[in-house]
Amino acid sequence: MKSHVKAVVIGGGVVGCSVLYHLAKAGWTDIMLIERSELTSGSSWHAAGGFHTLNGDPNVAKLQAYTVQLYKEIEELSGQSCSLHLTGGVMMADTPERMDFLRLAHAKGRYLGMDTELITPSEAKAMFPLMDENNFVGAMWDPVEGHLDPSGTTHAYAKAARKLGAEIVLRNRVVELTQEVDGTWNVVTEQGTVKAEHVVNCGGLWAREIGRMVGVELPVLAMEHMYLLTEPMPEVEQFNKSTGREMIGVLDFKGEIYTRQERNGILLGTYEKACKPWSPVNTPWDFGHELLQPDIDRIAPSLEIGFKHFPGIEKAGIKQIINGPFTFALDGNPLVGPVQGLTNFWCACAVMAGFSQGGGVGLALSNWMVHGDPGFDVWGMDVARFGEWATLRYTNAKVRENYSRRFSIRFPNEELPAARPAQTTPLYDTMLANNAVMGDSWGLETPLWFAPKGTEPKDIVSFHRSNDFGPIGEEVRATRERVGVTEIANFAKYEVSGPGAEDFLNRLMTNRMPKTGRIVLTPMVNEFGKLIGDFTIAKTGEDRFMIWGSSAAQKYHMRWFEKHLPKDGPRTSEVRIHRFDQTLVGLSIAGPKSRDLLQKLVDVDVSTKAFRFMDFREMAVGGAPCMVNRITYTGDLGYEIWMAPAYQRLVYKAIKDAGEEFGIVDFGMRALLSMRLEKNFPTWFRELRPIYGPFEGSMDRFIKLEKNDFIGREAAAKELAQGPKLRRVSFIVDAADADVMGDEPIWAKVGKDYGTVEKPHGYGAPRFDEAGKEVRGSKAAEGASAVRGIVDGEWRVVGWVTSGGYAHYVQKSMAQGYVPATLAEDESAGLFEIEILGHRRPARINVEPPFDPSGEKMRA
Ligand SMILES: Cc1cc2nc3c(=O)[nH]c(=O)nc-3n(C[C@H](O)[C@H](O)[C@H](O)COP(=O)(O)OP(=O)(O)OC[C@H]3O[C@@H](n4cnc5c(N)ncnc54)[C@H](O)[C@@H]3O)c2cc1C
Repeated sequence: MKSHVKAVVIGGGVVGCSVLYHLAKAGWTDIMLIERSELTSGSSWHAAGGFHTLNGDPNVAKLQAYTVQLYKEIEELSGQSCSLHLTGGVMMADTPERMDFLRLAHAKGRYLGMDTELITPSEAKAMFPLMDENNFVGAMWDPVEGHLDPSGTTHAYAKAARKLGAEIVLRNRVVELTQEVDGTWNVVTEQGTVKAEHVVNCGGLWAREIGRMVGVELPVLAMEHMYLLTEPMPEVEQFNKSTGREMIGVLDFKGEIYTRQERNGILLGTYEKACKPWSPVNTPWDFGHELLQPDIDRIAPSLEIGFKHFPGIEKAGIKQIINGPFTFALDGNPLVGPVQGLTNFWCACAVMAGFSQGGGVGLALSNWMVHGDPGFDVWGMDVARFGEWATLRYTNAKVRENYSRRFSIRFPNEELPAARPAQTTPLYDTMLANNAVMGDSWGLETPLWFAPKGTEPKDIVSFHRSNDFGPIGEEVRATRERVGVTEIANFAKYEVSGPGAEDFLNRLMTNRMPKTGRIVLTPMVNEFGKLIGDFTIAKTGEDRFMIWGSSAAQKYHMRWFEKHLPKDGPRTSEVRIHRFDQTLVGLSIAGPKSRDLLQKLVDVDVSTKAFRFMDFREMAVGGAPCMVNRITYTGDLGYEIWMAPAYQRLVYKAIKDAGEEFGIVDFGMRALLSMRLEKNFPTWFRELRPIYGPFEGSMDRFIKLEKNDFIGREAAAKELAQGPKLRRVSFIVDAADADVMGDEPIWAKVGKDYGTVEKPHGYGAPRFDEAGKEVRGSKAAEGASAVRGIVDGEWRVVGWVTSGGYAHYVQKSMAQGYVPATLAEDESAGLFEIEILGHRRPARINVEPPFDPSGEKMRA
């Protein structure tokens, strides 16, 4: 065993072996994988080996597609078979709502290069005759599904990595991790200590324990999982003989069941409601190649549905029931990337579908370690996406919820109840008393909308407009015409201070820093000139700045800030960063009467001249010390008021009392998001993500290329010089009773060729071969390079929606999304259609925001 290496990967399951392979492939060959026992000694060995490309997050779906197409490569390099069976599979819908969900998934596939198809239950039955098709209303076919040999696949990665020069050390447990002052890790193992620059946690079932070695409680939990194998079935053999094909994989939403052919019989797995965590607090180190006791009673309700939906299976004898544990994060997606607050400590764990995702995880992580960037939009699996609130017990409740509804639909307006309320502001009870429907915003209870008095404050979940439509309209109209108040505690808030603060922020942000008492809006880009943040920054005093940003990105942004703290030049101690979390909370008042209201609450002059648009002041509001920004996300005249939590009730009551004469209303997050739509304002994680350049994102006026150097300036300048290929645009959509939800395809009737558009960084899109024929399915995932869309007559898919909804004040259905730049200013009618739930709706680009296009009201 070497004593010094560049990187140590802990864990020899499918994920660790994939990470090792990808690091070696990227040129890091001085690397070592350390495995406690033999390879596949965690959950990898008893997996059912199924794989598929579909995922709720289109970016994760792309990485799954990459995983599937990688198997050939590692088989060839290693000489080890993965026993790949690319059978294809169907997802079965039993209700119209589930069919809507499939329509949405199918539509997304249009620009992701996925070759899915909506089919009838009878067509599905023809490929899996053991089902009773009368239980279903429709299905979606995906050709890139199948199964493989989990052990063979893990060994194929390992052998391929060894061939490239990586070392694998078996039967050697890592028992401790310590770090030297210079950042070198001491990886203490049963066989001695290895010094490494980087450590990767691929501990699978023990990932939590490895996290604890460095003082981190990772939000990951193992769940028991069962699948059964039947005796050989004559029906299966007969089908194979008569068609020359294997039976396909089937996913049954209603039953939370998956099933497929295994040898001459059937494999059927369940995600049962009465699910059970395994080793909820500590994972025993002596657990290895063993199975858990099957518990048929627990899965009996799932089997009952399964046998009803697939009566052909009921007749078969059960040969074996496998029960094994595997890990999940809160939302079922992996935890990948560098852990904030540590240097060179990386995670690739909570990978619940190692054979669908392992390759993509390995590729993204190795890119990140070797090149400093994952190369893809991996937010959906970034370890930074959960906060400190994701404690052991919180994780336990959320993972159980996620497991028990693994294949359930999540409606766009659906809030899941487990582990709530976790964090609350002092106004929580007041908001409930006001009949607020609350939502979870990065672990914080936040008012979404207010139900009329006497009605139950509850969403009716739907893909269509629902019971919140009327009340949100009222909240918006009252705010736009009078004044409204909302809680904004869920924004991220930071303070950056010290003599080096301004230089530091100038280096990070694309806009110039403001003068004292002023505010700027500014994106942040990475070295590749891609959007990684969007902030409001106020200079609150000499060497002191307040920053507001996206709540969910707090750890993501802290990780970036810490990474770029000055090391030479101004000393690190000269820049201090503080994240407030919920030690600073806020209220926003907006609407034409908001100034009159504020004036009643303060003892300073807040007239237009004295307190201008984009001004910042510290002032007492209703007697409480507050920071006030003259800015609001509603795009109207308005203010953001920030205070310590101890004052929030006082300030809120003062606002409501003083606002009575103006007819003040409470409004929630959904009204706020509706109002931002009619101003064409983007949102972080929807319109603005690391796959877009700042000019693509139409953030031009905030990019000051002429100012001092900033990270990513060169790449941004190049984007401008070459002209962005894509543009973020706003649409008015001729919708019926459903608005866009995000990820819908945008069609255009383009007679002329508008040129080839490079795919955004790592984002998939349909691709065309030399003959102009579209390349679809997994081939497109290999390196889709052009967004030219699926052709239907003169119509093509030319882009995708990022978000949208109903803009209540202007009474229009609106959407934002990306289209080729050459089409971005074409406001003609009849040019675009947006596909909502399978129906293509006429849409029109709206260059100027429909509400207050000149910004007169905002600046008044
Ligand atoms: C019953 C069942 C069915 C499944 N079906 C599927 C399926 O159909 N498709 C699919 O994609 N996935 C399936 N899975 C999930 C799949 O098994 C996991 O996604 C995958 O195995 C995760 O791999 P891993 O490498 O992250 O973790 P693991 O396989 O748990 O590997 C972790 C490794 O780390 C080693 N290790 C831990 N701590 C240390 C230490 N301190 N020092 C040294 N070594 C250490 C362990 O010994 C172990 O070998 C199934 C799982 C089960 C249980």
